[in-house]
Amino acid sequence: SSLGLSALTSDQLNTLIAQAKVKCQGGQLPTYIPLLAQANPGWVAIQVQRIKGEGVAAGDIRCSFPLMSVIKPFVLLFLLEQLGTEAVFSQVGMEPSDQPFNSLAQLQADRGKPRNPMINSGAIALAGRLPGKDGASRCESLRQWLNQRSHSQLVLDEAMLQSVRSLPNERNQAIANLLATVGYLDCPEIALDTYNHVCCLSGTVTDLANLGMLLGQDSSMISPQHRRTVNDILITCGLYQASSRFATEVGLPTKSGVSGAMLSIVPSQGAIACYSPALDETGNSQVGLFIVQQLAQDFNLSSTPHP
Ligand code: GLN
Repeated sequence: SSLGLSALTSDQLNTLIAQAKVKCQGGQLPTYIPLLAQANPGWVAIQVQRIKGEGVAAGDIRCSFPLMSVIKPFVLLFLLEQLGTEAVFSQVGMEPSDQPFNSLAQLQADRGKPRNPMINSGAIALAGRLPGKDGASRCESLRQWLNQRSHSQLVLDEAMLQSVRSLPNERNQAIANLLATVGYLDCPEIALDTYNHVCCLSGTVTDLANLGMLLGQDSSMISPQHRRTVNDILITCGLYQASSRFATEVGLPTKSGVSGAMLSIVPSQGAIACYSPALDETGNSQVGLFIVQQLAQDFNLSSTPHP
């Protein structure tokens, strides 16, 4: 069949949420950011945005959450547009990684060059390239740029930022320091502060799905080439160690965050945003993975055209 996203209804999303709640149990909330540990692990929200047809939503769609690592593809997109492909990929690789998202050992083994922009090392290196004098102003430029080009209304969650800062993140600090030592960062403190800020850009699943449309559809505002680059890197790197398996089984460019946010792009059809805070061992939303996998199967979604 060649159903596609246009056949999807909110009743079907509600059924999927009910199935996900039975199927996905035993997930964990992260504890290293205290406010994230206070989320309700039972929350599930989905918003699907479509090029053809209205949006479809189900679940706890009023919940607002920090994007955390789901902002990483948009930092990449912004910098590709500002600096161009060559400048960006002189700072960061495009190779997948089989190590956890905050691996220091891998960065050391790679002599300080981040594997890709979707893990912490790569995102911190790119945060160091955002224009602006400090973390707050760099984050604000990115926020405005994204909101102006999409129908999203991202806001900076100040309480979340304080929570991120409340426990020292020695791993991210060590990553930033190594990047500075080898010359990929001028100022590790500002880069890390910028990274922490952009991870705390927040919204609802509707905002996230709207943001996803920047990657899901052609527009005069974003170079198609840059959009493609981001989607291609998401296929191989978006879900950390789970990326290759998901690419094989589902095949949609997808990014997860430690808040339980997840965004999947259905090229030329739309975007699927999920929020459900309980994570698997890799740090991906359990329910998010299940729902996108089901949708891809039931509606024949893929980033490669199907007959
Ligand atoms: N701020 C978080 C961190 O660096 C984001 C990581 C994530 O979402 N996986 O640990």
